[in-house]
Parts: sequence; C-alpha cells; structure tokens
Amino acid sequence: MSFPEPFAYPRTPFNRRHGPQGYLDPQNYKPWLRDEFQFRCVYCLVRETWYPEGDSGFGVDHVLPRSKYRELNWEYDNLVYACCRCNAAKQDLDGILDPSKVSLAENLIVDSNGMIHGLTDQGNELILVCQLGRMRLVEFRRGIFEILELIQANRDSVKCNAFLRRYFGFPSNLPQLRLLKPPGANSRPTGIAESWFEKRLRNQLPDAY
Ligand SMILES: [Zn+2]
Repeated sequence: MSFPEPFAYPRTPFNRRHGPQGYLDPQNYKPWLRDEFQFRCVYCLVRETWYPEGDSGFGVDHVLPRSKYRELNWEYDNLVYACCRCNAAKQDLDGILDPSKVSLAENLIVDSNGMIHGLTDQGNELILVCQLGRMRLVEFRRGIFEILELIQANRDSVKCNAFLRRYFGFPSNLPQLRLLKPPGANSRPTGIAESWFEKRLRNQLPDAY
C-alpha cells in the first residue's frame, strides 16, 4: 500500500480525463469533478472523507468567475472541485491560479508542521484569498500528519490499516459516470474507463492516496 502525502500539491497541471458538455446547471458537473479532482478540494486539499457530510461540503467552483465570464458558466474546463469554504472565500476574484494550467506544487508547499508557504506571488495570493494559512487549518494539517505518523509506526495493526483506508482511501459513494448522459455529449469518452468507480470494479483502486 502506498503511503499518502495528503498535503502535497500536484506536481503537474490537472490533465482532464473527462469532458462532459451541455448541462445547463453547473451543479450537474459535480460528479465528474469529484472523480476528476479525487474527492478533495483543489485549493486546500481537504477531503470528502474528512467531512461528516462527505461530498455535500463540496461544490463546483468557477476558476474564471461567472460574473465576468458568462460564456464560461457551463464550460467544464473552467470548473474545479472545491470545498464550500474555499469556494466562498474565493468569491468572484479573477486571475487566481488555474490548477488545470499550472502545477500547484510549483506555487505552494506545506511543510511538516502544517504551515503553508507560497513559492510565487500567485501562490501567496491563493493562500491569502482562500485563507490557507489560517491557524485552524495549520493545526488540522499537523494533526493529520500526527495520525499518519502513528499509522506508519503501526503498519501491522489491522485497526491502523482500517483507519488508513477510511480517512485516506476513496469515499464509498464513487460516481458511476458511465450512467450519466451529458446533453452535449462527452468530449473525452475514454476517461470513463479510468474513473475511480470503474477502477474499483477492476480491483485497481488504491487503498489510500
Ligand atoms: Zn478548500
């Protein structure tokens, strides 16, 4: 089982696997985005499995705000998956890092104490806008690191491995994207076979990530 690095930002821009089109309500893109962004907030990396309400604490965020770019309101490639807190904090700000275009790891880093640091001006801006350096979140990250340390020191423990799967594995309610029929079709249909639900069917789902 690979050991998770829950606060390591992706080293490459998100390479979209899905391309649903034509939904009139941006919320209909949510199952696609959940799968695309691995069930965690693209900005703070907090996961559905850490929320009592699971995916209800998350939503669809427009990278370029819909107030200024009406034409992008339904454009899948302008949508990301974010927790409600980051989504609300970001509001309608324009010019925020686009995780599909840049590597977030080149802009942000979380140290072993749970502190986050901007590596670029845009990284610092994102920290400020989404309040990623707030003390509660820093302490939360530190707590997660401590739990992981405990799990790692007890790799033979059945209980610890169950914890690892529960909090660092995939949620149980994986979306069945194959059943969804976007009105404007799917421009990247091959991504369906790579979705996490399909991987689970093939027994290829990692226990933790
Ligand atoms: Zn967030």
